[in-house]
Amino acid sequence: MSLTAERVQHDNPFQIAQQQLDKAAARLQLDPAIHQALREPMRELHVTIPVKMDDGSVRVFKGFRVQYNDARGPNKGGIRFHPDETIDTVRALAAWMTWKTAVVDIPLGGGKGGVICDPKKMSPAELERLSRGYIRALGRFIGPDRDIPAPDVYTTPQIMAWMMDEYSVITGHNTPGVITGKPLSVGGSEGRGDATARGGAYTVREAAKYLNIDLTKATLAIQGFGNAGQYAATLFQDLLGCKVVAVSDSRGGIYLPDGADAHDLVRYKLTNGSLEGYPGSQPISNEALLELDVDVLAPSALEDVVTERNAENIRAKIVAELANGPTNPQADDILYRRGVFVIPDFLCNAGGVTVSYFEWVQNETGYYWEEQLVHERLDKKMTTAFASVLDMSLEYQTDMRTAAYMVAIQRVAEAMRARGWV
Ligand code: GLU
Repeated sequence: MSLTAERVQHDNPFQIAQQQLDKAAARLQLDPAIHQALREPMRELHVTIPVKMDDGSVRVFKGFRVQYNDARGPNKGGIRFHPDETIDTVRALAAWMTWKTAVVDIPLGGGKGGVICDPKKMSPAELERLSRGYIRALGRFIGPDRDIPAPDVYTTPQIMAWMMDEYSVITGHNTPGVITGKPLSVGGSEGRGDATARGGAYTVREAAKYLNIDLTKATLAIQGFGNAGQYAATLFQDLLGCKVVAVSDSRGGIYLPDGADAHDLVRYKLTNGSLEGYPGSQPISNEALLELDVDVLAPSALEDVVTERNAENIRAKIVAELANGPTNPQADDILYRRGVFVIPDFLCNAGGVTVSYFEWVQNETGYYWEEQLVHERLDKKMTTAFASVLDMSLEYQTDMRTAAYMVAIQRVAEAMRARGWV
């Protein structure tokens, strides 16, 4: 059976990740052995974590950690706490981390973790016990030279601090470099909090230069209002001059025909827990928000929101994918044909892991950088990565996602060859 002949299950993110890889591998005429190795994770661990709940009962949670490829360096990638987590979601996210670290050219591989749980329904004490239990279950599978987790959907700097502390208890010495995205007080980096959105802003700036779009006149819609979405609102406004005209979260969205101040929107969401009722806004569904006539659309939540069902209706000029995996391959083809410029996820949202890399370097050397330096170095990484991907897409006359894959695959393949794996 050919590598690409398997039927792709429509909503399986890992099969989608494999399909994206296959497309780029074909364009690169990639060595079949390397292609085969890159289609599967190198290692994965499935764990069960018993946790004492506040009411005295014990609940057993399932967790995963996938180490996708470490040819370029220790595995790197976040941990997601989500009720709908599946091993295939974690595999896809781990694959995307491999391409992400390669496309921004940092000396790390790709990994991802997840626990099936609903953090919104757990107390802080229960979350702490779960976080520590997960790290005990992973034990020696992770470490600053092996695999370095970080935050992802519904995991926070506080959770990273508990996890780092638990790992330090296991090793018997302070080990800040085992996890990134920590609070500043325990070895976090300046600039990590907003890094995903800031890196995305730099790529949007570069895309607008190429497309000749004046961002100071641009409108912006953001789907998803967690860490990435909230900082995208304020930074795309403050750094690029965009006007925020729509935002949504998991409970629904608001449309603001005259725009709104992004800082005020964030304050409102943090005070009220939702966007509903924001003065001067009209309610809008997540689906309708994606189809608004805006210049920049930033999907900033979860996978699979731009599909063949709505891609014909997307009117944005630039789609800045701050989420991982928001667009499926059928939609990619439609958007490319229609001339919508997509900044693909593992390029657009690579700012988070880039500053995670800076954090790890600071932990390993024990010397901490000022915020200004973090911003400058992040800008350089993102701008260089964007240029390599754009050059590749123009040279091969292909969409930005396939081009990003081609840049990343070449780098991972080179490391695999240099190590003598193939
Ligand atoms: N979870 C983030 C991502 O998907 C950050 C990963 C990291 O910092 O290691 O890129």
